[in-house]
Amino acid sequence: MRLLLILCCISLSTTAQKIIALKCGQVLDVRTGQLSKNVTIVVKDNKIEMISQPGAMVKIKADTVIDLSEYTIMPGLIDCHTHVLLQGDITSEDYDVQLLKESVPYRTIRATNSCRIALQNGFTAIRDLGTEGAGYADVDLKKAINKGVIPGPRLFVSTLAINTTGHYPLSENTYAWELHLPKGLAEITGADEARKTVREQIAHGADWIKIYADRSYTKQPDGSYRSLPNFTNDEIMAIGDETIRSHKKLAAHAVTRDGILAAINAGASSIEHGFGMDDECIQLMLKKNVYWCPTIYVNDYVAEGRAKAGSPINKYFSETEPALFKKAAAAGIKIAYGTDIGGYDWNQPQSKDFEYMVQYGYTSLQAIQTATINAADLLGQPLLGEIKTGNFADMIAIKGDPTKDIKLLAIVQWVMKDGVVYKTGK
Ligand SMILES: [Zn+2]
Repeated sequence: MRLLLILCCISLSTTAQKIIALKCGQVLDVRTGQLSKNVTIVVKDNKIEMISQPGAMVKIKADTVIDLSEYTIMPGLIDCHTHVLLQGDITSEDYDVQLLKESVPYRTIRATNSCRIALQNGFTAIRDLGTEGAGYADVDLKKAINKGVIPGPRLFVSTLAINTTGHYPLSENTYAWELHLPKGLAEITGADEARKTVREQIAHGADWIKIYADRSYTKQPDGSYRSLPNFTNDEIMAIGDETIRSHKKLAAHAVTRDGILAAINAGASSIEHGFGMDDECIQLMLKKNVYWCPTIYVNDYVAEGRAKAGSPINKYFSETEPALFKKAAAAGIKIAYGTDIGGYDWNQPQSKDFEYMVQYGYTSLQAIQTATINAADLLGQPLLGEIKTGNFADMIAIKGDPTKDIKLLAIVQWVMKDGVVYKTGK
């Protein structure tokens, strides 16, 4: 076995740039699945400066050398569907309690914990799809993370999210009508309000616009799924147009064709959930290059409890999801990793969707790609999702080979984000 030589000197030069050398046991190329053994990665400040040839002798003046020779190094994971300001809402009561009994400052304090957990789970970037009644607190969390006030992943935020009047909790018909209830998102009626709301959210710092395109899902006698579309055509087209003309992207919660087709026609870049999509949806997604965030685990997680409480729709989705996933994958639909964590408890695993994808027919590498190169592509972030010279130094270390055993992603041993180590090996 060749020994790797790293000449390490504490730099006394005047440069403020910090150099870290990572001695990696093996490095995973998530594009090809190739594992390169005995590689040195040089990190300068927050970027990957150099990646050595496998087994090559490296002479570098480094401020710090980190021994990761027992690990597989891969890019930091990206979760494209989270809710850092939610702490699980299996039942509507779980949800209502958070909006009614917890102030936004209190929920934001709890969210700092969610952000820390995500980073410890190996997710160095997340797209957070709605604060669920916590206003623009996601923008504050992003600011606090970027300024180093709290640890957390890179946040891509969508602020309040948008639905139409009367179609989102808290619901008037479950409380005394005299009350002015807090709402889980921004409600609009009409194309002008739709445009205004998009403009307000972008002005407040939204990176993405999130809409809820449908509700009231039903399974038809022929086995297909339908729902009620939330927006008029004018409303949803106004949202899409206003989003795209500001060079932002649109994410659509859309479960059946009644939401999915309208959202894609309005310019959505990703369909969230999509449990009830049909062949026409799959074809349109392929044609318009739209990503699918399947959020598989969250549906299974709530299915049993909700069925017992008299609402079996999530159970039906669970039953049909394996066949749908296989069909969509075979058709070549692009999938980005999205968990909806926050919709389920942050202490639950964030890596479960990888396991479901493999169970439903993806290779482990394909599953890994959903949370790396695919997710970076959806986010429009070419410097994320891959270990490459010039990319941001967002990397994780795993014991063993995750392309052979996807379950290893549940135990991330070491995390670096933006050139800073946030978790060291167990
Ligand atoms: Zn969600």
